[in-house]
Amino acid sequence: MPLAAADILTLTPQGLYCPLGDFHVDPMRPVPRALVTHGHSDHARAGHGSVLATDQTLAIMAVRYGEDFCRTRQVAPLHEPIRVGDVTVRFVPAGHVLGSAQIAIEAGGTRIVVSGDYKRQADPTCLPFEPVPCDVFITEATFGLPVFRHPDARGEVRKLLDSVRLFPERAHLVGAYSLGKAQRVMALLREEGFDAPIHLHGAMERLTAFYKEQGIPLGDTPRVVAAERGKMAGAVVLCPPSAMQDLWARKFPEPVACFASGWMRVRGRARQKGVELPLIVSDHSDWDDLQASILETGAGEVWVTHGQEDALVHWCGTVGIRAKPLHMLGYGDEGEAEASPEEAAAS
Ligand SMILES: [Zn+2]
Ligand SMILES: [Zn+2]
Repeated sequence: MPLAAADILTLTPQGLYCPLGDFHVDPMRPVPRALVTHGHSDHARAGHGSVLATDQTLAIMAVRYGEDFCRTRQVAPLHEPIRVGDVTVRFVPAGHVLGSAQIAIEAGGTRIVVSGDYKRQADPTCLPFEPVPCDVFITEATFGLPVFRHPDARGEVRKLLDSVRLFPERAHLVGAYSLGKAQRVMALLREEGFDAPIHLHGAMERLTAFYKEQGIPLGDTPRVVAAERGKMAGAVVLCPPSAMQDLWARKFPEPVACFASGWMRVRGRARQKGVELPLIVSDHSDWDDLQASILETGAGEVWVTHGQEDALVHWCGTVGIRAKPLHMLGYGDEGEAEASPEEAAAS
């Protein structure tokens, strides 16, 4: 008899816990041993005893929290089986942000995949998602409703460039999360042939420098000089979403407020945030891609961590897959519920 999934992973107040390996996955509070899927602050927190993650995720955590973010760290090379206690784990690309990985946990003939956050759209800044055949697939459902169907991100970036051409006397301020989304927007702008400097809010500088060190070509990305803001007509400026409402943003010439987020599919959200040019660019799977991914894993059971859990659980039932919501609080779009570490440090 294969081992029951519930014997491999259980839910604790700190998050998902594997008793056989004595570790947590993406714990929300400090724990002795953590396996971390990616660098977003709702998954990667400082203060653990040891952290096992991809080299890029470990490096991103060090950039964000300082070199002493944990006591000991171990690199998980992609695709390589690693023994942890009585289980074997394997990190496989998740296509979400640089370094992001799903974690496959295997014991007694049963395999559970914790996907973390993932997307299926092409992204020039990270490795694509790879479906891992498994018995239980653990997924988020941030955009798990039929209304969420993300358009091609390249088309959204073309909208931005059209607006830049149409309003050369104005500065375009693009709100984007400082890890992943910002660099993806920059890379897409370059792919569309935009070769002028892309100006950065200070909170985005270090992670962008790290992406460049990792070989992602983002071109010239100077930091905005506060005193020069009034002269930046025609410029494209990337900043954290929280900076859009700041006094900082108002010093630019007739700024066009743009926001790159999957939430921009909801017009009311864009209006409420004062966004003039919504850009639907998401680092999460939309409704169709959640379903496609679940089916590709061949999992007989699905656990849904957070987001629109009920809708996705219901859909699983309609295709004969057992599913349950985990109602995990504490996960969510970084920057939506709380400021990123960079923004917190800057304020
Ligand atoms: Zn994430
Ligand atoms: Zn997340």
